[in-house]
Amino acid sequence: MSDLRELYQQIILDHNRAPRNFKEIEGANRVADGDNPLCGDKFKLYLRLDNDVIEDIGFQGSGCAISKASASLMTSAVKGKTVGEAEEIFGEFHRMITGSEIGVDRKALGKLAVFSGVREFPARVKCASLLWHTLRAALDRADCVVSTE
Ligand code: ZN
Repeated sequence: MSDLRELYQQIILDHNRAPRNFKEIEGANRVADGDNPLCGDKFKLYLRLDNDVIEDIGFQGSGCAISKASASLMTSAVKGKTVGEAEEIFGEFHRMITGSEIGVDRKALGKLAVFSGVREFPARVKCASLLWHTLRAALDRADCVVSTE
């Protein structure tokens, strides 16, 4: 288990250091702000939605390692997916970081499983889920601000 924990730590550090999709999206038709004042995480999420498909997604901003790595892995996970598929992944992810491990579909989560340890740290759950809530807001409405408070 400690080896797995170390591997997870490595992936989080890697995505924090070199976040994927860390850019503004040209022609984005959905934008949402995510704000977690408790920790100081502040991001802007850009989406190009074509019918039901998340064609392109990117984010900008700053925050702690957990929030940034989560944004990086979230955008990688939902890019090219339909809105329904993205909602499904979010459902599994949310269950993993807030509930019990039982019944969590690890295969559906892939690399997102690196955040399974945050459930032990309630304050970190907000960091890890911030961009997911922002994604949902962006999908629901054209423009808005999401705050964890
Ligand atoms: Zn944070």
